[in-house]
Amino acid sequence: MKDKVILVTGGAGFIGSNFIPYFLDSYKYTKIINLDKLTYAGDLSNLEEISSHSNYSFIEGDICDRNLVEHLFKVHDFDAVIHFAAESHVDNSIKNPDAFIQTNIFGTFNLLDVAKNCWMVGANEFKKGCESKRFHHISTDEVYGTLGEVGLFTEDTPYAPNSPYSASKASSDFIVRSYFHTYGMNVVTTNCSNNYGPKQHNEKLIPTIIRKAINGEQIPIYGDGKNIRDWLYVLDHCKGIDLVFQKGKSGDTYNIGGYNERDNLYIANKICELLDKAKPKQGSYKEQIAFVNDRPGHDFRYAIDASKIETELGWVADENFETGIQKTIDWYLNKYN
Ligand code: NAD
Repeated sequence: MKDKVILVTGGAGFIGSNFIPYFLDSYKYTKIINLDKLTYAGDLSNLEEISSHSNYSFIEGDICDRNLVEHLFKVHDFDAVIHFAAESHVDNSIKNPDAFIQTNIFGTFNLLDVAKNCWMVGANEFKKGCESKRFHHISTDEVYGTLGEVGLFTEDTPYAPNSPYSASKASSDFIVRSYFHTYGMNVVTTNCSNNYGPKQHNEKLIPTIIRKAINGEQIPIYGDGKNIRDWLYVLDHCKGIDLVFQKGKSGDTYNIGGYNERDNLYIANKICELLDKAKPKQGSYKEQIAFVNDRPGHDFRYAIDASKIETELGWVADENFETGIQKTIDWYLNKYN
């Protein structure tokens, strides 16, 4: 039997570079081609551990490049696409939304459309042998907008994106949805809460707190630090993606989140507490916490109802925030020291 060949996009980023080694380790007869533009957010050193793996290869390129994507589909006869590539940082989307519209919306359309043309003859008609070829779109809970003090996002919550980032992801989700309803393409979408863990870019909240703390700098916290996110350890997200990819129902969406709601101030305090033990200094790292002007349009609270993926597919998070953050701190102390 032919090995499966999967196109992974954006695999040099945070989640993709955790996903690829996990997936290669889990499936011996699967080849992964990683297509990544290597923007500032992509870092091949995150993939060093598998760079010479016989089932892995890397291609530097843009998902918006139609000729390149068509060429890759022709040469590799992909069995599936797992699509991580995106501009992902909300603050950047406020300053420079163009790249978000281009990559997140047009890039997703480009991949989908090439996949459809390669795998299907027409609406609801697959080419022979292409019946099980699948497009898995990785998305975010930010498409649902913001919550008040109570309530959870379910798969049926209406979309209400508030930042250029979440609006571009919401648009891409709708395009994926339309390829299922219009053409009958085999697609699944996962909407996950905030991830944390090894290999995340320095600009994001948790690496920033750790880095600034050990460098003796101010630890910046937006507004009053009361904004709440539902934090999920990145490997738990990867395991959820794997389950949905293998067993999710075509055309469906699945929310992934670990019921670990924490506000930003709690996170900063917790990290400082753990650093006080791991890398003691005179006084506590907590003294470096400083409140800065809030992000414009800062969503107050995100929280996921993950009961669909739990009950239908048997997914369960292995880490809670307190166990995951310890592993994360250990990884960053090793990186920054
Ligand atoms: P990231 O910013 O760390 O990585 C994105 C990767 O995509 C980078 O390697 C970058 O070089 C690549 N890329 C960007 N534009 C490209 C283009 N035009 N062509 C090819 N490659 C390109 O992002 P991440 O945190 O790993 O997120 C991955 C996916 O998961 C994104 O779709 C994001 O929306 C989604 N997501 C992220 C989180 C989170 O907390 N990080 C949560 C839920 C969903």
